Amino acid sequence: MPAMAAAPARVGVLLPLPLQAPYDYLLPPGVAPRRGLLVRAPLGARELIGVVWGKAEGAVAADKLRTAEPVEDFRLPAALCDFVDWVARYTLSAPGAVLAQALRVRGVIEPEMARRALVISGVAPSRMTPARALVLERMADGLARMPAEIAELAGVSPGVVKSLADAGALKWVALPEFEPCPAPDHEFDAVKLSPDQLRAAEHLRDAVKKREFSVTLLDGVTGSGKTEAYFEAVAEALLGGRQALILLPEIALTVQFLDRFAARFGCQPMEWHSDLSKRERKRVYRAVMSGEARVIVGARSALFLPYPKLGLIVVDEEHEHAYKQEEGVIYHARDMAVVRARLENCPIVLASATPSIETYANAKNGRYEWLKLAHRHGAAEMPEVRLIDMRSEHGEPGQFLSPSLRAALDATLRAGEQALLFLNRRGYAPLTLCTHCGHKETCRNCSAWMVEHRYRKRLVCHHCAYETALPVRCPQCGAEESFIACGPGVERVEEEFRAAFPEARVAIASSDTFLGPAQTQAAIRAFARGEIDVMIGTQIVAKGHHFPQLTLAGIIDADLGGGAGDPRAAERSFQLLHQVAGRSGRGDRPGQVLIQTRNPDDPVMRALAETGRDAFLEEEIRVRERGRIPPFGRLASLILAGTDAIRVRETGRDLALTAPKAHGIAVWGPAPAFYQVLRGRTRERLLVQAEKGIDIQSYLRTWLASAKIPANVRLTIDVDPISFF
Ligand SMILES: [Zn+2]
Ligand SMILES: [Zn+2]
Repeated sequence: MPAMAAAPARVGVLLPLPLQAPYDYLLPPGVAPRRGLLVRAPLGARELIGVVWGKAEGAVAADKLRTAEPVEDFRLPAALCDFVDWVARYTLSAPGAVLAQALRVRGVIEPEMARRALVISGVAPSRMTPARALVLERMADGLARMPAEIAELAGVSPGVVKSLADAGALKWVALPEFEPCPAPDHEFDAVKLSPDQLRAAEHLRDAVKKREFSVTLLDGVTGSGKTEAYFEAVAEALLGGRQALILLPEIALTVQFLDRFAARFGCQPMEWHSDLSKRERKRVYRAVMSGEARVIVGARSALFLPYPKLGLIVVDEEHEHAYKQEEGVIYHARDMAVVRARLENCPIVLASATPSIETYANAKNGRYEWLKLAHRHGAAEMPEVRLIDMRSEHGEPGQFLSPSLRAALDATLRAGEQALLFLNRRGYAPLTLCTHCGHKETCRNCSAWMVEHRYRKRLVCHHCAYETALPVRCPQCGAEESFIACGPGVERVEEEFRAAFPEARVAIASSDTFLGPAQTQAAIRAFARGEIDVMIGTQIVAKGHHFPQLTLAGIIDADLGGGAGDPRAAERSFQLLHQVAGRSGRGDRPGQVLIQTRNPDDPVMRALAETGRDAFLEEEIRVRERGRIPPFGRLASLILAGTDAIRVRETGRDLALTAPKAHGIAVWGPAPAFYQVLRGRTRERLLVQAEKGIDIQSYLRTWLASAKIPANVRLTIDVDPISFF
């Protein structure tokens, strides 16, 4: 045999750019072409971090090939590479664009600036002073400390520390680049579980022990302690030396979750989300890659981290629509988490009190295992739910608290308990209208109404954040001060509440309260501590919070969830209202829920008040089966957008004409998207509907391969769309 091993290997390197395929490079002689190896790949005048993906394609002449230098110690696990390929195929995204999700840390391979600290050297200084002696006494434990820390510890000036270092009595040592990760302790403080929880926990522990792929729906009523049950699975993963990933829909809002984790495991988990600093991201990414980070709690992007020994994935609140990434690579993190678990051959737990139809159907037909927690933890009972028919019961015009709700608020406040008023409308009023001519202020970038925010005295578009001052004069008819607010927003409900209950302590929690998210977090914490009597909030308060003193939840307008032409509107509406209702009565006092509606016969309202969750899910399954809507059929959206409206429409029409005929596939549209103009771009939508079992991706690939999309029109493909705006 000739000395083949020494020859430079030719490999395909995938770059984190929207590229369809890897590029060919040479590796330096002697470097084995292992999939996942990170390399510095020259591209034009730039150098990019790429990943050895597979065999070279071979079209490039040998003398044109450039060499990619391997990055020591950095390698993506093979299962992650497979995952990137899988996601790219499924979502019809460029593999390079998906890889970018897995390499989203700028400068991850660059070394951090060296950190140094001082330790005692054992060399006595030639001159001793009381201050110096104090320092040496404190440093006798041999631990490395920063100079400022030493000065503080010994109560001396920084000059004393410096002089001891100069004299050689303290010496500099290099610290690791990053502080070590806290190590969660699997038996730090096992809480007492109910029999229901114990049964679920045992089952989940077994699934982790088996080290093979399985999907379990952890289906528990609000307040049943699902988190504590799946923490036992996390403990088992720790015990077995594996890593665990817990996905949460909105990581920035999960202070309470982190505290519960710390109570069980003795320290906080590593977090991964968009609010981390660059340095923190680097630290977490590297700790995940080395296996040092044992438990990661993250938003959907945590799914693309390089875990070398993933032993468990948990998707909490699996029904949440926040798991869908709607921009760039469009994917559903819950669905892709199931794929990642399969590729890692590890169990995955989907937890919810209101499972998505997809998950519920899979549990019912036996594809997923199904664990139920039917009772609230401890003494708490499920709250009593009552509908208030707003057709017969309403107060003065422009008022949104019915007499029944006012009476219940009064009783709650007198009893010294807390109430939550829920309305999923930010700002003061959803619509601002001229009383003279009926003119509505719309956004200049979007076909959406401007929303009045009275605190800030501004009109704001909730889609593109465009703002103006409230006009003094109507731009259409010229009338002065003719604008009135129509409908309720949280600010307006607060105004009405304050007028009716001037003594009560009230706060608003909304994602755009005028002082920003920090104020909202502070309000939520103050409410949890009982320093506020009534919280008026949007969906930000609906999720995951535990307020033990809360005994009344009032839903101001339950009819807001509906969206025309959105097959998931009922499901979404039910999930949200059910979550809100679930905030009530979680402590030792019974809770009640009052729902104001004009449609008390609507299946969503009836399910909330009488028939219950499963009746709703079963009915929804029947509707979807009839309409061949997912999971009983497949959908994909093609959205065309651009600033040239005529061009966008023409492209949509041409695209529809070239759709290949295929059995079991229908193409609808083009039709204007719900918000036809969004951020200044005209949008047209085509909807592809296929029977279950049809490979909709192949169909789309064939069709779009020959499609001509002009440069100024952007085509976005959304497989399994959940939003129909
Ligand atoms: Zn007017
Ligand atoms: Zn706008």
